[in-house]
Amino acid sequence: MYNLQGKTALVTGAGGERGIGRAVATRLAREGADVIVSDLIANPYPDDSRDWEGLPSVVREIEAAGGKAEAILADVSQADQVENLVSRGIDRFGQFDILVNGAGSLPGKDRVLVVDMEEEAWDKEMNVNAKGVFLMCRAAARHMIERGSGGKIINIASTSGKTGRKRFSAYCASKAAIIRFTQALAQELGPHGINVNSVSPTAVDTERVGFIAEAVSDGAVLGRSWKDSEAHQEFIQEKADISPLGRVARGDDVAQTIAFLASSESDYLTAVDLVVSGGAEIF
Ligand code: NAD
Repeated sequence: MYNLQGKTALVTGAGGERGIGRAVATRLAREGADVIVSDLIANPYPDDSRDWEGLPSVVREIEAAGGKAEAILADVSQADQVENLVSRGIDRFGQFDILVNGAGSLPGKDRVLVVDMEEEAWDKEMNVNAKGVFLMCRAAARHMIERGSGGKIINIASTSGKTGRKRFSAYCASKAAIIRFTQALAQELGPHGINVNSVSPTAVDTERVGFIAEAVSDGAVLGRSWKDSEAHQEFIQEKADISPLGRVARGDDVAQTIAFLASSESDYLTAVDLVVSGGAEIF
């Protein structure tokens, strides 16, 4: 366990029940941090068969375990909403020490061949994944520098940012941008005692993978819904089969890596991209 007592964390993309963001938020809270959880909409994967309300459920879960949390909606690709998120969070808890950028554009019209991709699909992926990380980091870094107490910024990239994949071109480009942006920002913020790192998971069994599995299996453009489909299960099994650890990652596997990067145990790590792939992908 790491001691994050007295720290405040902001986690974006936290509304999915199986999501990495929820796992990170609840883990940081267990380590003692107060947490602002954010997402584009409160419940990104609505599903009548599940008793899950998205962000309010995450807040209740943290509070039930004795922690403090607040939910604030924001579109990370919009500068005014990002500014509002950060300033409301500071009003609520007084400061930010830890920023985890987990928001990621939901798979959709971008999961096609480049020759078939519309400009708007490319822009959406880059605006949420790459520009969103820039806007969030800029707002948080300005606050952390002014406060003068250092900080930890952790950006969620992907192994897709380290290698190109068919039908994932915009996603791969946006995640590669995050990895290089992280390195550059680390050079700028190091003198202020702010560590900036990224994590690159490979497949993690979240609702998002339901979208990806279907997109990969038939190239379809999917709407905003999720089901634990056969394609999802096949995708997860395939990924488990190629991992030396024999299983696919869960949100908690990424969350514990992020908890380490958020803690003082990683004070001499900055500009690093930690690959959380269970050995399935080696870079
Ligand atoms: P997820 O879909 O549960 O999390 C992403 C969240 O981002 C969603 O809740 C979504 O509503 C939110 N979001 C989308 N657009 C937004 C916007 N404009 N503003 C604010 N929030 C927005 O998926 P996840 O699997 O938990 O993924 C979390 C992060 O990890 C993502 O950045 C994803 O790219 C990355 N990742 C996931 C995997 C995986 O296999 N699941 C692998 C590598 C990297």
